[in-house]
Amino acid sequence: MAGLNRTYIQKTKAEIEELLRTSWDLVSKRNSEIENYSKKALKLADSIDSNNYRGLAIIESALFECLVKNNYYQSIKLCTEGFDLMKGEFKKRYAPYFHLNLGRNYHFLGDNVLTQKHYLETIKLLEHRPDKNYYEKRWLSHTYYNIFILFNFSGAEFAQSEYLEKALKAYQEIEDLGGIANCYNSYAVYYFKKNDLQPALEYLLKARDLALKENSVSFLSIYCSNIGLVYTKLGNIELADSYFEMAQAYDREIKSTYHSAHTHNQMGEAQAIQKNYQKAIDHFKVAEKYFESVGVKKSLSTLYDNVSLAYLGLGDFENAYAYQKKYSESLKDLFNDEKTFAIARARNEYELEIKEQEAQILRSKNEQIAKYANQLEFSNNELRQFAHVASHDLREPLRMVSSYVQLLERSLKNKLTDDEKDFMRFIVTGTHTMQNLISDLLTLSGISFVRSAGPVDLNNVMKTVVSTLKTQIEEKQVIINYSLLPTVKGDETHMMQLFQNLISNGIKYNKSEPPVVDISFNLTGKKYHFAVSDNGIGIPDEFVEKIFLIFQRLHSRDEYSGTGIGLAICKKIIDQAGGKIWVEPNKGGGCVFKFTLPVSQN
Ligand code: ADP
Repeated sequence: MAGLNRTYIQKTKAEIEELLRTSWDLVSKRNSEIENYSKKALKLADSIDSNNYRGLAIIESALFECLVKNNYYQSIKLCTEGFDLMKGEFKKRYAPYFHLNLGRNYHFLGDNVLTQKHYLETIKLLEHRPDKNYYEKRWLSHTYYNIFILFNFSGAEFAQSEYLEKALKAYQEIEDLGGIANCYNSYAVYYFKKNDLQPALEYLLKARDLALKENSVSFLSIYCSNIGLVYTKLGNIELADSYFEMAQAYDREIKSTYHSAHTHNQMGEAQAIQKNYQKAIDHFKVAEKYFESVGVKKSLSTLYDNVSLAYLGLGDFENAYAYQKKYSESLKDLFNDEKTFAIARARNEYELEIKEQEAQILRSKNEQIAKYANQLEFSNNELRQFAHVASHDLREPLRMVSSYVQLLERSLKNKLTDDEKDFMRFIVTGTHTMQNLISDLLTLSGISFVRSAGPVDLNNVMKTVVSTLKTQIEEKQVIINYSLLPTVKGDETHMMQLFQNLISNGIKYNKSEPPVVDISFNLTGKKYHFAVSDNGIGIPDEFVEKIFLIFQRLHSRDEYSGTGIGLAICKKIIDQAGGKIWVEPNKGGGCVFKFTLPVSQN
């Protein structure tokens, strides 16, 4: 692109995209203007010598060949030519559009296998594309709808309604009135086939209203001739005829062979219903000629059946037989065994590919989770170190404050008033509380550091805990009940902290005489369920979760000493070991702390 100014190139690309967007808006109207837009786009692409944009403009002209000129083979050729010119990300972006257009052509030509292959490819490329733009959503809606039509015709009942629903939803999401109307028309066809004429008529009238709003002449032709057929069946011939006339007027306006053929086909059916078989055949013959000229095999197939039935009505068995034969041959052509198998195979492959795609999404999500987990561990480590250093460094000045206050108290002993002595005591208790807080914080910050996950014999743990709490136990004449305890997986120091916190709380928050603490356990599956119960003051229901949070206390320090960190430590230990901890009221008063721990493998 030597010599071309970058701004000019950017501007031209934007201009081409705008041209194509306008032409996409004309697609539903089968407007022959599309051709001018794609020609203009091609010229502009030439002026900036861009193969990508050239390709896009050529695919656009393919759409014109398909939808306006019904020149399907030429359209396929152009589509492939255009797509071959594209490269890289641009090609990826437009790949679904290419497949949709190819599928559409094969669809008209009656090659169900290739049709399905390209439609499913479009869905595969688009369904998981994040942040789809309006046009991508529109391609997807069209594909859903076309697949519904394909499956509907090939008798793949399991997928029909699913795709019609998907299409209707997708069209509603982008407020594509033409698409919504098409879905209504399909619902109408469904009811018509079941001879449920009222809902069929209602859907068709709704579809017609939307098409009028959109001024989509080609669809107006289809809906009006369908309405004509329903009115014929309902016995209202006058109304039926006026709708057929409207359809024909639309056909003249858009000059589409396909649509004229469709109208004649419906008019023929209407005459056959009225038993005017010769008139029916006249219409069918015109339709046959038109359908043949554009090569729409699936419409031809149903038409042959209709013609055969009309000849039968006339008593012309020879022709009736000839058309019945044509009909069965066309069916064979559309649905031979090989093609039916190929359809099933393609569907299986598609489903497998979708599964693989989902698995890939899952894999990349897992990778992301692992990355976050790493980052989290890193910042957790930093936090832990920070807490450790901070609490450690706080201890020194605190120890100094407390010792100097005590020295001062001693040297001023006789000179202090009673009030001043009280003040001194407050300072000393304050520093003690703070020391306890810091030491508990240190413990808490050290818990994520698992020293060992080896087997811990809880009988040894209990021995140490009981000896540590000896003074309290003797002072309050506490009874501690436990039988032979198991060996669990965990860290020994952590297990000591856990049992010591729970048992000392059971003693501290207890006014019974004597205070009793029971420790029991049972084994379910691969987990031990432990219970540490007491006959203490209990915990009101509304606090059963709050108490496990750091610094959450239910009483003042004057009433019960403590830091509000003990249970947070217990929870952290249990979380680390992969268990759960909670509290329940004890039946005879007091509370039961319950927790689970994994069984040791050794
Ligand atoms: P503390 O250092 O205050 O005991 P904990 O985290 O161990 O901190 O407990 C938090 C709060 O839970 C305590 O202040 C207390 O109000 C309540 N609590 C804990 N254990 C018991 C128990 N066995 N019986 C009654 N209340 C308890």
